[in-house]
Amino acid sequence: MEQDSKNNSLDKVRSHLQRECFNKLFIGGKFVEPIEREKLPTYYPATGELLHEFPRGKANDIHAAISASERAWAEGTWAAMSAVDRAKIVAKMAQGIEDNKEMLAEIEAADVGKPFRQASMTLGGAANEGKYWCSLGKALDEEQDLPVNSGGGKGGLPPEEWNVVYRRDPIGVVGLISAWNYPLNVAFRKVCPALIAGNSAILKPSEIAGLSCMFIGKLAHDAGIPPGVFNIVTGDRDAGVALTLSPSVSMISFTGSSITGSKVMEACAPKLSQVALELGGKSALVVFDDTDLDKAVETTMKGFLTNGGQICTAHTRLIVQDNFKQPLLNRLKEELERLPFCTNPITEKNRGDRAWEDGKTDVVQPVVCDSQHKKILGFLNEAKAAGVEILTGGGVPDEKVVGHSGGYFIQPTVLVNVGQETDVWQKEVFGPVLSVRSFSSEAEAVLEANSTKFGLASTVMSSDPARAMRVANRIRAGAVYATSTGEGILAEHPAVSRGGFGCSGVGRELGISGLHEYTELKSVNYTGFTLTDAKIEDAK
Ligand code: NAD
Repeated sequence: MEQDSKNNSLDKVRSHLQRECFNKLFIGGKFVEPIEREKLPTYYPATGELLHEFPRGKANDIHAAISASERAWAEGTWAAMSAVDRAKIVAKMAQGIEDNKEMLAEIEAADVGKPFRQASMTLGGAANEGKYWCSLGKALDEEQDLPVNSGGGKGGLPPEEWNVVYRRDPIGVVGLISAWNYPLNVAFRKVCPALIAGNSAILKPSEIAGLSCMFIGKLAHDAGIPPGVFNIVTGDRDAGVALTLSPSVSMISFTGSSITGSKVMEACAPKLSQVALELGGKSALVVFDDTDLDKAVETTMKGFLTNGGQICTAHTRLIVQDNFKQPLLNRLKEELERLPFCTNPITEKNRGDRAWEDGKTDVVQPVVCDSQHKKILGFLNEAKAAGVEILTGGGVPDEKVVGHSGGYFIQPTVLVNVGQETDVWQKEVFGPVLSVRSFSSEAEAVLEANSTKFGLASTVMSSDPARAMRVANRIRAGAVYATSTGEGILAEHPAVSRGGFGCSGVGRELGISGLHEYTELKSVNYTGFTLTDAKIEDAK
């Protein structure tokens, strides 16, 4: 009975995936076959069954997309439009996500293994964020010809009559390489600012789970983006490498692991092209003993289990005050051992870690694929071999618990008294695994929080506002949360810029700084006439 319902739901998703956009590359405004006609498989994480085969674009397809993009850039229509006009077209794409949210959520549930409910919520977030990016079109237009100087210094340099305005130019042909954990959100967060800024772009989604991203091609097509301004080439590492190496690509915006991020930077170095890198994390949750116990437990669970722990800002290091450690761990173990597994994400309409709704984690999803599953188990086996203490979990759940599904499930795992030098403290596991250490003083808490090379996010919990803010201010991370309730942890707002310190990234996403990443700042220095004269002449 349960198996029938799984088959039916998977068949429904497979029928969505019959559409042309999920089976072809999008190059020069057309859906095309990859030159070598190869395909890549993707599997349903809850059962390990084949979900779909999508085109494997390779270097020659990337080069075709770059040529189409270069032609659009040279032709210049898109770049010459006002940002407000470009935003009107991109807004249609954002609306398209909203209009197709249910279908896209089913696809992401099947591709990533995340509960439908959660996928639907985050896709709604992508549509809203798209609308926010579009609202920045006006701000960008207002930044064109912004006066910075009028009249020069006395006695020579700069000359007395010397006027300067700033402009924000698009960069040119940009490559957008995205990760699989929130496939469409991560990709659309690049596509919107890149296009609104006036660039021509090529998107290379993740081969692990990137099917929903392919729909962006259809949205661009239907919205009327000029041919070549936006292209999608699905494929694996080789396609990504070809995009980063091309001398015609002037910027790479990349979201993925820190290891790959450094390779992207290396590929871009010889040609000195721009990079924006949103990378991995190992975020800390620092909990003081004056925190409400229930809230501390909820926040810990939400921090390391949202999206199955596969979120760059996952709070996978718990740093708890000595005398609060045992009560917190006792409650945490109890709660985690009660949590059900999500054995058919596609049909999960009522559950799905409600991280952004009411702060409750109510189900454990499978991890995305076999290789991630093996990688996480490798971390756990290594920790066990090194004598790390396991409070709960530590492996795969009993087959009976997950209905003999064959899926990529891992028990929510808590490792205690973890050494600071161990891999499970220092490296991103990207699964439902929490490592715990404790502290006795505020200074020690800060040292613990800052004890990895990452710096993406972190949270401090205390009912003492001054202490919470003091510690938050000393943590080296692009986004810190100070809270007495846990509310807002992992939350993002499109207007609030974020990014990584250290190995967590280069540059900032979201907010006006996120849009500026896709522009070059130029000063236009003019003498002998006024800007008003120039505009009158231009209008003639
Ligand atoms: P990944 O680094 O393995 O791959 C990311 C993308 O890069 C994929 O599209 C892949 O095909 C491509 N790629 C692989 N090798 C390449 C190379 N040498 N040159 C160019 N492209 C290459 O990452 P992933 O497993 O897809 O994603 C998970 C990682 O992403 C985690 O580390 C996570 O923390 C990070 N992430 C960061 C953010 C953020 O905002 N900071 C958001 C989401 C995910």
